[in-house]
Amino acid sequence: MKIIPYGTNGFVSSFNRQTACYVIPLGDQLIILDAGSGLFRFMEPAGRKLLKDKRKIKIFLSHYHLDHTFGFYAAFEMFEKEEVEVFGLEDRHVLKELVSIGQFPVEYEKKHRNFSWIKAESGKDENEGFKYSTRVQKHRFEKSLGYRLEFENGKSIAYVTDADPSRESVNFVKGADLLLHEHETQNVPEYTKDSRLEDLISKGGHITTQGAALIAKEAGVKKLYLIHHNPPCTWAELEKDLKKAKRIFPESFLTQDLEEIEF
Ligand SMILES: [Zn+2]
Ligand SMILES: [Zn+2]
Repeated sequence: MKIIPYGTNGFVSSFNRQTACYVIPLGDQLIILDAGSGLFRFMEPAGRKLLKDKRKIKIFLSHYHLDHTFGFYAAFEMFEKEEVEVFGLEDRHVLKELVSIGQFPVEYEKKHRNFSWIKAESGKDENEGFKYSTRVQKHRFEKSLGYRLEFENGKSIAYVTDADPSRESVNFVKGADLLLHEHETQNVPEYTKDSRLEDLISKGGHITTQGAALIAKEAGVKKLYLIHHNPPCTWAELEKDLKKAKRIFPESFLTQDLEEIEF
């Protein structure tokens, strides 16, 4: 199986990195983790090709911050012919409020009539060809969702971003084949061998690189791919940061836009 990163940045796009969006093709379905600006890549030839012959799009949202939802500015246009299901903390019509303040000039209900909005806050659910489970995470003073997908062929993937470093998170991602996990490089606490997992969070409320690596190690995942890159960081700076993760968990990698990951 493969996952194609369409957007690996947090906050805003930079250096050809779009914001949070990851695509998993599964038969005639496309599973999409978060809908940041990376979703606009479905306007490009490779994205359009991937959409061909797909019947259903399933978008799993970690939360509603714009770096994870801005793709809805054009989702109705790109997914005109498919059936679209959007899973999130609430059954919320994303960006709908923008219509009433004159910033999104579309007839919202009409344009989204093939969209359904599903609350995915708790527990486990069966789906077509896979199962998913969620964990409600602390994200500053708000909430976000972590997702874990288990496929019929036995493979599993966990997606954790904009979250809190905790024991529950380690349990949630335990033994996954692939862990996509956020990492923060700036304004982070100094890491020592006595650091507690709970403290490995930045001033801005994101889990540090070492925090991500520690979670991967303690959970015994097969591979860790770091995501939600800090926009001002150059690739060289991110590679430097990756070394910190590799010292704790050698099977750590940087996720790069459009570089497919096999799992
Ligand atoms: Zn974010
Ligand atoms: Zn956020």
